[in-house]
Amino acid sequence: MKTLWAPWRIEYILSEKPDGCIFCVPPERENDRERLILHRTPFSFVMLNRYPYTNGHLMVVPFRHTSEMTDLSDDEMLDLFTTVRLCRDVLEKTASPQGFNIGINLGRAAGAGVDEHIHIHIVPRWNGDTNYMTVLGDIRVMPENLSSTYEKLLTGFPTPQ
Ligand SMILES: [Zn+2]
Repeated sequence: MKTLWAPWRIEYILSEKPDGCIFCVPPERENDRERLILHRTPFSFVMLNRYPYTNGHLMVVPFRHTSEMTDLSDDEMLDLFTTVRLCRDVLEKTASPQGFNIGINLGRAAGAGVDEHIHIHIVPRWNGDTNYMTVLGDIRVMPENLSSTYEKLLTGFPTPQ
């Protein structure tokens, strides 16, 4: 995989990291918008990355706090990857990307920002996207777009029961 040049992520690298695990979320949905959670399934949830590589960078996360794939049950694995596919479909429908990077960084040495709670990245890609972002490259561009990106993507997910 080609390395993405994403200078605006310096904000993440330099930011103070919260105590506790950002991927351990309470069962109540009331703060989902503030947490950038777009969708919940029985075993996992979808969160918009606050420090995205590209606009619409999503993460699928199991509710269970674990760093190991081997800790996940077959039901959890199936749920995770069904949710990855849902994310791909929602992004396709709402943002028309030309490609996707979908992957897991296991361990800090592999580039995991949060290495104690496994999560799958779904990064929509457009031809020339990083060049475009670099040219327009103010690091505040992406965070300002977060709430409009959230609202737009939310329309693509099934409404919670
Ligand atoms: Zn956790």
